[in-house]
Amino acid sequence: MTVRTVRSIAKIDDELCNGCGLCVTPCAEGAIELVDGKAKVISEELCDGAGFCLALCPTGALSIEKREAAAFDDEAAAGRTAEKLAAKDRPGGPAAIEQHCFACGRGEMDAVLFPCRTKGASTWVCAKCLPALIHG
Ligand code: SF4
Repeated sequence: MTVRTVRSIAKIDDELCNGCGLCVTPCAEGAIELVDGKAKVISEELCDGAGFCLALCPTGALSIEKREAAAFDDEAAAGRTAEKLAAKDRPGGPAAIEQHCFACGRGEMDAVLFPCRTKGASTWVCAKCLPALIHG
């Protein structure tokens, strides 16, 4: 039986979502996918409500709400992440788009990336390039 509880969970405004997909990869749990051109939380159990997706949304379509939902399932999220990584290069597999540092181009498989905003765009910066951005 699914345990339900009041907790934080991602909310997506369909009207504001432009289907860019920028929120899909930041979700480490694989809870968000594009369905018919719009971002959707595909399963409540996969969303931990951490909100990493929020920073990358260029339209403000994402928010975190507190409501009754199925409890977060750590095991299911780990399985989904493994599934996405395994299917990364397989056509038709779950989308796992490797992101890159906007400054040096290193990908997330080789570097730790942080979401950031620059010149009105949502993007990523790696741990190596971040200090230069902070200190000039
Ligand atoms: S980042 Fe925002 S606009 Fe883009 S797909 Fe996700 S919810 Fe939609």
